[in-house]
Amino acid sequence: MLADKYGRTFKTLRVSLTNACNLFCNYCTDQPASEKASQPEDNVLSTKDYIKIINSLHNRLNLETIRLTGGEPLLYKDISNLIEGIREIGIKNVKLTTNAVFLKEKAVPLKNAGITNINVSLDSLDPESFFKISKRRNLKKILEGIDHALAIGIPVKVNTVVMKGMNTDQILPLLEFARERSISIRFLEVMKMGHLHNSYQDLYFSQEEILEKIAEQHQFIPMDREHGATATYWITDKKQVFGIIANESHPFCGDCNRLRLDSYGNIYGCLSNDNGISIKDHSDDSLKLEYSLKQALLQKQEVQFAGSVMSMRYIGG
Ligand code: SAM
Repeated sequence: MLADKYGRTFKTLRVSLTNACNLFCNYCTDQPASEKASQPEDNVLSTKDYIKIINSLHNRLNLETIRLTGGEPLLYKDISNLIEGIREIGIKNVKLTTNAVFLKEKAVPLKNAGITNINVSLDSLDPESFFKISKRRNLKKILEGIDHALAIGIPVKVNTVVMKGMNTDQILPLLEFARERSISIRFLEVMKMGHLHNSYQDLYFSQEEILEKIAEQHQFIPMDREHGATATYWITDKKQVFGIIANESHPFCGDCNRLRLDSYGNIYGCLSNDNGISIKDHSDDSLKLEYSLKQALLQKQEVQFAGSVMSMRYIGG
């Protein structure tokens, strides 16, 4: 088995389908919001390319999970065929991380193609703070998308980046939103990525502060952390489970099993390293692929998340 000296290997592959996004969230970009979604650059992989690369990686790594992300993965027009192709390779879990702007219209095709879970990034239930974060006014559409996906039987989780001065007042309403729907919610500490690499402290709201806010209305106890998990979970006295992804204050590099593939065919072993290793032209050459995977494994941090100047939009959130 391919593993480093800490026993870490790659079991989950996060695949970025595009750099483009139809939201302009403050943690991903400081660019002014344009009328249209940002546009993908040239040379992105085709569905055939993705399937070929994923197949080679699966043959070597026996992957358990593929997570499609971006950019905004629902902007990738051929996503249903891609999901079907990945299912045919025999990978058990094919998950999606999306802002859900197009979820209402795409939920049925996604389900028919074989998607197994969807994580929705939802940072606020308040239209004004949602707009302040995303520069878009499509909160209603997103909420309808979540409810539609749930109605047709797709498991949905919500992820919320908690930011000082932006949405800390949304922690309790979002917790209630998740409770009403019996869905899982995870709160994320803001990470030193992209344009926030040196200024993330301005927005940073720690795990401890998130727990203090939840303690205003709930009693809770910690749960055991699963091996390789990004989140730590707590359970409230009303039996609601919530998680916190605390990259900064409680990093989880020690058992990280994630590999990333961007939309140009580069792999990355760690979010903290922006040196993509191209496998586009040699994913079917087992010796060269092995060498590239070993390089990617060496990118993993020992314990502490170091961040990167590359926005998560490019490396796949
Ligand atoms: N567009 C999709 C979405 O909105 O879910 C997928 C890509 S987006 C980069 C995925 C998620 O990464 C964001 O919604 C946010 O939760 C997280 N993210 C991106 N940059 C971040 C940062 N600097 N700190 C914390 N989370 C970040």
